[in-house]
Amino acid sequence: MRAMTADVVVVGGGATGVGVARDAAMRGMSVVLLERADLAQGTSGRFHGLVHSGGRYVVSDPGSARECAEENTIISRIHADAIECTGGLFVVTPEDDLAFSDKFLVGAQQAGVACEELSLSEALRIEPRLNPGIKRAFAVNDGAVDGWQMVWGAARSARAYGAEILTYHEVTDLVVEGEGADRRVVAVRAHGLKTGEDLTISCAMVVNAAGPWGGRLAAMAGSEAIEIVAGAGIMVAVNHRLVNHVINRCVHPSDGDIIVPDHTVSIIGTTDRRVPDPDHLLIPREEVAQMLDAGEVLIPGFRQTRTVHAWAGARPLVRDKRVSGTDTRHMSRGMTVLRHSEAEGLAG
Ligand SMILES: Cc1cc2nc3c(=O)[nH]c(=O)nc-3n(C[C@H](O)[C@H](O)[C@H](O)COP(=O)(O)OP(=O)(O)OC[C@H]3O[C@@H](n4cnc5c(N)ncnc54)[C@H](O)[C@@H]3O)c2cc1C
Repeated sequence: MRAMTADVVVVGGGATGVGVARDAAMRGMSVVLLERADLAQGTSGRFHGLVHSGGRYVVSDPGSARECAEENTIISRIHADAIECTGGLFVVTPEDDLAFSDKFLVGAQQAGVACEELSLSEALRIEPRLNPGIKRAFAVNDGAVDGWQMVWGAARSARAYGAEILTYHEVTDLVVEGEGADRRVVAVRAHGLKTGEDLTISCAMVVNAAGPWGGRLAAMAGSEAIEIVAGAGIMVAVNHRLVNHVINRCVHPSDGDIIVPDHTVSIIGTTDRRVPDPDHLLIPREEVAQMLDAGEVLIPGFRQTRTVHAWAGARPLVRDKRVSGTDTRHMSRGMTVLRHSEAEGLAG
């Protein structure tokens, strides 16, 4: 058993964990990050790769839309090497309700999401493979992000500021002292999956950045303040960069409504359903077919490309009481910081 000390222990080596570790290290704190697999092996390596302009949520979830627009500006600056500022289009296809596009335009203005209507000829000029039957088109600041490059870049920067990043180290327990409303997490226990060594890290604070596994980690400290819901989705990559902008259907968020150009491929996604266990995600054959059909609506001929890869990830969603517990599609994508000390008298 090895004993260590740190100001902050961060659990989880996805986008959230490496970002928090970097930030804390830049503030002069001693930081240890523990990741049970490799960096970005959770949701941050199994997502769609879209840097949201915010447009996707301007009607359904304006708070998240505003956060997206703000974050887009920040990460495009601090992770410039991982981001391609492709720009994006929201298009009304022949299958879509034109009335939604009016709400979209008003919502974008209200949420501070930059958006400009294009003539149809201009939209088809910049994206010649688009469905020629589109009825309206809007330009937004969407982009594409290489998730691994971003996560590894943040991790390297955190290390340069002194953070210790331990991959293949699984947190097995959180050590709590005190009783009732006077409890405090004082240490983290972890097991080195490659070294076989057990660690106990005494610390002033633990940050739970375990994504869809966050509920399990909180439960190790007896926390009951937060319910994390895993909303699984699939994506499918085809073997051509069919478009140079992110292409969104101008509709309420729905399955297969976005195509992201990513390096040399195009990625269509995604689906959304609550799953009990983020370690066991399926890629149902019918959902793959559904994605290819959805691609065809935006880009006629989409189905004729070669499918090169399909994958699934689980969104870490905070249970949103506005919708039913199984309706992960409509749960907020907004960011949440939960201080357990304030929520349930569990400090540290
Ligand atoms: C289908 C889908 C599509 C998406 N598309 C987009 C998109 O286009 N754009 C966008 O901005 N967002 C998108 N998202 C959301 C985005 O991917 C997530 O919000 C983000 O990746 C979450 O990062 P995270 O660091 O919080 O979690 P994760 O990346 O899941 O990181 C959590 C980490 O914790 C580790 N961990 C868990 N338990 C332990 C333990 N006991 N000990 C040590 N480590 C542990 C895991 O191994 C994991 O690496 C999408 C999500 C999904 C599912």
